[in-house]
Amino acid sequence: MSLEATLQSRSESKCELCSATESLSVYMVPPDVGNDADKCVLICNTCTDQIENPEKVDVNHWRCLNDSMWSQVPAVQVMAWRMLSRLSSEGWPQELLDMLYLDDETLNWAKANGDGDSSSGQDTVKHRDSNGAVLTSGDTVTLTKDLNVKGANFTAKRGTAVRNISLVADNAEHIEGKVEGQQIVILTKFVKKSN
Ligand SMILES: [Zn+2]
Repeated sequence: MSLEATLQSRSESKCELCSATESLSVYMVPPDVGNDADKCVLICNTCTDQIENPEKVDVNHWRCLNDSMWSQVPAVQVMAWRMLSRLSSEGWPQELLDMLYLDDETLNWAKANGDGDSSSGQDTVKHRDSNGAVLTSGDTVTLTKDLNVKGANFTAKRGTAVRNISLVADNAEHIEGKVEGQQIVILTKFVKKSN
């Protein structure tokens, strides 16, 4: 059975987070990638979009986690835990989080993306890559598109690895790194964290 068919059957062709039946696609739960159904969830566009673009989050959409967090599928538990952690300052997500029990292995996986590592949440600036993975200073990232570097005479090519990045403290969308020997500012939405 193909990966998608396996997931369609596991989820009964519903978004594994919000139960929507339209626009479903396979989402590989970062930081693991691979065609292993245990490491993937089948979710709808609305969920994917909000997971990948924290600024678009509609808190009420995630009330669906009230049900889906009880899934027996670890990958679904991980995504529920991460979204509840991100939204914990709203109150009710923290209450759900307090009820959600993950075994050690699943909890480590849930935390591997950087969500939930700060209890204060909101007031710290978090830099996230195009997949929503939290970036930290010193990480290596890969460019996901060709970037014209302002003020310099070159294009930073898609696929270029940028090592030892630094985070721009007051702007969650900006990181800095060296490309072709020049320190440049890069938008986080155009990078992907390397493992
Ligand atoms: Zn959904």
